[in-house]
Amino acid sequence: MGRFDLLVRGGTVVTPAAVEVADIGVLDGVVAAVGPDLAGSARETLDASGLHVFPGVVDAHVHCNDPGRADWEGLAHGTRALAAGGATTFVDMPLNASPPTLDGASFDLKLAAAKGSASVDFALWGGLVPGDVDRLDELAERGVVGFKAFMCPTGIDDFEMADDETLLAGMARAARLRLPVAVHAESAELTTRLAAQALREGRTTLRDYLASRPVVAELQAIERAVVMAELTGCSLHVVHVSTGTAVHLVAAARARGVDVTCETCPHYLALDEEDAVELGLVAKCSPPLRPRHHVEDLWRTVVAGEVALVASDHSPGPPELKQGDDAFAAWGGIAGCQTLLRVLLTEGPPRGLPLEAVAALSAAAPARRFRLAGKGSLAPGADADLTLVDMGIEAALGSGELLSRHRQSPLVGRPLRGRVGRTILRGSTVCLGGDMVASPGGRLVRPDPGLSTEARS
Ligand SMILES: [Zn+2]
Repeated sequence: MGRFDLLVRGGTVVTPAAVEVADIGVLDGVVAAVGPDLAGSARETLDASGLHVFPGVVDAHVHCNDPGRADWEGLAHGTRALAAGGATTFVDMPLNASPPTLDGASFDLKLAAAKGSASVDFALWGGLVPGDVDRLDELAERGVVGFKAFMCPTGIDDFEMADDETLLAGMARAARLRLPVAVHAESAELTTRLAAQALREGRTTLRDYLASRPVVAELQAIERAVVMAELTGCSLHVVHVSTGTAVHLVAAARARGVDVTCETCPHYLALDEEDAVELGLVAKCSPPLRPRHHVEDLWRTVVAGEVALVASDHSPGPPELKQGDDAFAAWGGIAGCQTLLRVLLTEGPPRGLPLEAVAALSAAAPARRFRLAGKGSLAPGADADLTLVDMGIEAALGSGELLSRHRQSPLVGRPLRGRVGRTILRGSTVCLGGDMVASPGGRLVRPDPGLSTEARS
């Protein structure tokens, strides 16, 4: 007989292990009990019958650009979009804030910006750039989940790409600190040369841009990063892989004992190269969208369990930076945190992805990989972060429902399955029917040093 603050009755509860009708009892912001027909009283009872209850999405790759570039996307707007999409925790990237999160002082600025403006819980990535490697110690002390490095130019002046020497030194230090390094893996040499050649020849369409970032550029960079991780004993995470071939490289390294995982993003799973050409610069990203056979190949690796997690790489910019005739000059980055879960629910099941895997890819696995204790789980003792979804609704995405700073998405007009009806953060509803209902109370989550960083093979 329990006494709960909140009782969510009769929902179809989705976890990586099972999909079954159950009640969830919440006390003091934590899941206190899960089971059929829980006995007990509660201050508030929600009837979730007919709805699916997912663990709140843990989006491991988001760019909220506070402080400094909130006019692109800030914590206030970005976290509302996250909540509306069913996310209760996200990991913020060290760029494109200004200053970027590269040391203790910039970490403190980011944290100060998040206080009072973040509607969901958050963790932070630190940056790995050329220069003083001791900054990684400062960031680790403050509580970053790991260090993000670029193997190609970032497009932002204050965040330099990591040359091989920087990557090696950074991985060695990260290994000592027991934190992972995440890499944007595209060969700088290939992409820079191909871009320069296209510009010399006056070829600046989106199709020219796509051709300047071939699959081989991604594969080469992944191989190099894997070798360095193997040499240094560093835990490696490859962000936003865009092809199944890239996933195979990562899986092969993991099979021989390298602690390496990869993520992919909803846009690589929902859209292809022809969509990019049709949609234009709203669909510009790097690595770029790929031909359809790569999309389906990537899906096969997701269904096979070779992709550790799906993250949005939410990285919008102001519309005026995504216009013009020069696709190379336009800002590359896609707004996607609000649609991550719905893309998985739309595109996954028809390809054989069970709902259990959706809960794993969107919540349990990222929380586990980045050691976010109490997140991404509906087990007793976990934070009561819940997302209630009506799976019976399929509707075209309207720009009016987007809560980002700029209401842009390459998915506008496309039918998406599942409506996120309610997002609950630590037992309190923060978003109801697409509208925010509670004041921002997002908290910093630091990685739990008691948990393992090891990738599951
Ligand atoms: Zn990113």
